Amino acid sequence: MSAPTIKGWCPGAHRPMMSGDGLVVRVRPPLGEMTPRQARGLADLAAAHGHGVVELTNRANLQLRGVAEADHPALIQGLAALDLLDADSAAERRRNIVTDPFRPLGVDDVQTRCAAALTRGLASRDLAPLPSKFGFVVDAGPERRLAGISGDVRIEAAGAHLLVRADGRATGRMVANAAAAVRLALELARWFLASGGVGPDGRGRMRRHLAAGATLPPELSGDTHPQADRPAPRPGPIGTGIGLAAAFGLIRAQSLHRLADSGARVLRITPFRMVFLPDVQDLSVHDPSVHDLPPMIGASDLIFDGDDPRLRVIACSGAPACPQASVATRDLALKLAARLPEKGQLHISGCAKGCAHPARSELTLVGRAGAFDLVRDGAPWDEPLRRGASPHQILTLFGG
Ligand code: SF4
Repeated sequence: MSAPTIKGWCPGAHRPMMSGDGLVVRVRPPLGEMTPRQARGLADLAAAHGHGVVELTNRANLQLRGVAEADHPALIQGLAALDLLDADSAAERRRNIVTDPFRPLGVDDVQTRCAAALTRGLASRDLAPLPSKFGFVVDAGPERRLAGISGDVRIEAAGAHLLVRADGRATGRMVANAAAAVRLALELARWFLASGGVGPDGRGRMRRHLAAGATLPPELSGDTHPQADRPAPRPGPIGTGIGLAAAFGLIRAQSLHRLADSGARVLRITPFRMVFLPDVQDLSVHDPSVHDLPPMIGASDLIFDGDDPRLRVIACSGAPACPQASVATRDLALKLAARLPEKGQLHISGCAKGCAHPARSELTLVGRAGAFDLVRDGAPWDEPLRRGASPHQILTLFGG
């Protein structure tokens, strides 16, 4: 299978990426959350300068698509006014942190303190050479939910204790408190740089570095296992709040307004393509069904029901939004969702890069030269079972 083009960097707000339908502008809400004012403002910016849809990424960021180059300065001004913009693109690139979205509300929460201190620490200029995909995960709540989320340095918990773990190692080093955890996490990042973790192309990940033979010094490693991981939560009630998944990761500006008007103090962005409202228990009175959506999304963009078949299909943006795609993905995803067996899982990838789910799936459809290859129990870049099926043939294959 021909290799897709790997760009090796992620779009930001300051440094957007040109796509098939305009600029992709990625917004990283500080601490992974927005106030209702910020959410309303972002929804308005998406409607004014983009396609009117906000995309949730698998690293708990938000993306606006379809932004014209001429609109970018006004969009940047709008983001700055909402306090959703870093000082510059270098600071934005390094602030690559996913924090447990199910943590309690309030600044005294240990995970919030860790994430805030990491944000300050990452502003240090000596960390500027970190690759743009190098990231931190703060997953130290009573339930470890982010084990499947990509991150190079992880702050986790073992019972009542915090530990810091390099991705790729099963165990980490126990530390006394949040300040010590952040210090050690930043030291791990510095060690990664000093020990040659970044290649000549500016890329590199901790797991690959360790697998290639790099040895962690004793003061940066330990023998403490993090607590057992838990499956990603499904939409519906979660603790004191409620989670609302976005069909194929897309939320319309109007729906974002509706969430902002729900009475929640903050909207937490999760890496599970779901928004978590930590202090709202019942949204049904605020969120009547929506029937005026683009056909690619379905009857409603917000999913309350953990059994909604659209949750079993992952699809990247595909054509025409992504210039690397030769096939449309999301309209097929919607048609196939209802035909999947109850526990079936499907990934539709516009090309072999597999942006939306760079991992194995029970079934994967991979776009190539205007048709689909079918991979069973593998990743988009694996050898397919069948090649060159048209969308019509795929629909027939799935029973209709
Ligand atoms: S996987 Fe999808 S979004 Fe990623 S490059 Fe390929 S077509 Fe584009």
